[in-house]
Amino acid sequence: MIQTKNIQLKHFIYVRKSTRDEKRQVLSIGSQFEAADNIAGTNCCNVIQRFAEEQSALKPGRPLLNEMLDRIERGEANAIICWKLDRLARNMVDGGRIIQMLQDGSLKEIRTYEKLWTPVDNVIHLAIEFGSANQYSRDLSVNLKRGIRTRLSQGIWPGVARLGYYRVPGTRRLVMHPSKGPLVRKVFKLAAKGTHSIREIRDLVFEQGLRGNGERSLTISATHRILHDGFYHGVFEYGGAKYEGVHDKLVSKELFDQVQAILRVRTRPRKRELKRFLYRRTFRCGECGCYITTETQKGHNYLHCTKRRSTCVQKYVREEIIGGQIDKLVHDLALPRIWINFCESEIVREKVLDAKAVEKRVQLLSAALAELDVKLDRYLDLLAERTISQNEYAFKRDRLEAQRAKLSEELRLSRTDHGTRFEPLEEFIRGLNEATVLDSVENPSEKLRFLRKTGSNLSIRDGLLIVDWKKGWNCAVLWQRKLVLVNRKSAKNPSRSTMRRFWNDIRTTFIPAEVMAIGTGSVVQLRDQPNVLVDAREEQAVFLPGAVRNRTGRAAGLGLELVCP
Ligand SMILES: [Zn+2]
Repeated sequence: MIQTKNIQLKHFIYVRKSTRDEKRQVLSIGSQFEAADNIAGTNCCNVIQRFAEEQSALKPGRPLLNEMLDRIERGEANAIICWKLDRLARNMVDGGRIIQMLQDGSLKEIRTYEKLWTPVDNVIHLAIEFGSANQYSRDLSVNLKRGIRTRLSQGIWPGVARLGYYRVPGTRRLVMHPSKGPLVRKVFKLAAKGTHSIREIRDLVFEQGLRGNGERSLTISATHRILHDGFYHGVFEYGGAKYEGVHDKLVSKELFDQVQAILRVRTRPRKRELKRFLYRRTFRCGECGCYITTETQKGHNYLHCTKRRSTCVQKYVREEIIGGQIDKLVHDLALPRIWINFCESEIVREKVLDAKAVEKRVQLLSAALAELDVKLDRYLDLLAERTISQNEYAFKRDRLEAQRAKLSEELRLSRTDHGTRFEPLEEFIRGLNEATVLDSVENPSEKLRFLRKTGSNLSIRDGLLIVDWKKGWNCAVLWQRKLVLVNRKSAKNPSRSTMRRFWNDIRTTFIPAEVMAIGTGSVVQLRDQPNVLVDAREEQAVFLPGAVRNRTGRAAGLGLELVCP
């Protein structure tokens, strides 16, 4: 840290934390103040006032930041201390104002934990700091997701290694741990005999050296989880889909099935002890968050809050009333058959289009790679003829090699990504089908299972069932309501444009931002989105400030749809 006496300067301290995101890497308001006070202390800064704001800096115009900057312009202070530069701005409007103030001298310095910024600093660096944080985090998340999809398509478990495995350093492959692996296998073998209780099995392998987290023995429930985990015979689940893994199999499928059969028999008697209520451990109380339990009174089942934590004034509800509400919710999700058929045909059409786009993209990338090779050869010739120097050649070669690495990676991703993108959407459409089937039958337990699949945080408050719909399902509910509002008849015979709007809604929910191959041409503007530019040569969409997202647009003149993230 640079230390100078700052007697003539007057500092404002500014700390900020976004209300929603940034939870992980950002210090709390308190810690930011601590860091800022530290900076002020070591540099003998004269701190006039401290500002704390809880708001995202992605959009311009935070009230406290503006107040602070206004006061600096009025001369009340002339320097800022903050933990990191991105606390001040993550957009170019606020960032630009700060840079301007540094340049015209109303702001003499910005001190951060990492660096001191003064009017003589290169403004490009500042501009990058203000503008790039946002893009960086967006790219990171897209790349992470893409990386996970790629791994899944190769049968590689993307999460942490299970007990009994380790990851070969430098690769993603999971192999059997030399000492723990055989002991996990032993857990299965002992369980398959059916002569030991889970506790006995757990203690036996502990004696032989099987340790869980923190070198302690496994818990009973962790041992149960292992025994039910298909991962050990080579199959894992991720995001609701099953994958055939390429990791070492610790047990055979036969042994695994044998264990499942024994565990089923063993757990049966325990279940009989408790009276089976349909909605046991399903709902939370909407007032206090405790579990809702069921009780029989005078031949009727009633649901009520367990009231373990506080004084809660929620009353009893009849089971049938909740059952009726579940029927209603399933009905809300059951769209007319014609809508589902439309989605099914659209997804088939899009998959064909997508395959073509991928093919085209692979062609373009392969051609570009071949062209790079030609260029490289040409430079080598020039070097041999001594037309260019060794240094010039090395410079060109490195640049071309970097381009080649980037293109090769894109080519690899184009080949592997294809197809997996549509899976969540297909799963959703299967769900829509399921809803229409369930809507026409009387089957409370299946309906409950379906509700748990499509919604989360099921709770009851004042006799009303509350659900947070999962991805896509809120969209289905919304459209169903729209349909009811309009007319039941027209819902069964909708226009294609209405169905297309519905389709676009769910499609943008499930298929993330993507770059599409759009053929030849230069920069094109989306007709209804002046702030989104499509660069056909680079095959990417550029989002300028103010671009409207979550909408589809048509790339003018090219007849291709582009989905904005
Ligand atoms: Zn309660």
